[in-house]
Amino acid sequence: MNENCIFCKIANKEIESEIVYEDDEILAFKDLSAQAPIHFLFIPKKHIRSMNELSAEDFVLVARILGKVKDLAEEYGVSETGYRTVINCNKDAGQEVFHLHVHLLGGRAFTWPPG
Ligand code: AMP
Ligand code: ZN
Repeated sequence: MNENCIFCKIANKEIESEIVYEDDEILAFKDLSAQAPIHFLFIPKKHIRSMNELSAEDFVLVARILGKVKDLAEEYGVSETGYRTVINCNKDAGQEVFHLHVHLLGGRAFTWPPG
């Protein structure tokens, strides 16, 4: 738990969120500023600042998060139409919240390459 981290507060239920999935290690909730009909954020409950701070012990957890992204994409009906997963890291990627999170975006078409 990082006292200054908004996603730690969400994981700790100090700040409300619209939770779509939860277990001991993972929380998924709706992005407040949705960029697509489906826009969820998947976080480890444990505070990890960004991709840069991932350690080898976290790899299983990250794999579990990706597995849940897959499950929820199916559950929310975007598996067949398609979806995008995004992890922003640091300034050039526009990371705003420094608690590792995976965006799941779906329900519309996206362009490639990204801007
Ligand atoms: P990023 O640019 O990858 O760091 O994305 C951070 C995301 O967190 C943005 O899409 C914000 O809309 C979202 N966000 C920030 N605060 C909240 C919150 N309290 N509840 C849900 N989503 C949030
Ligand atoms: Zn945090």
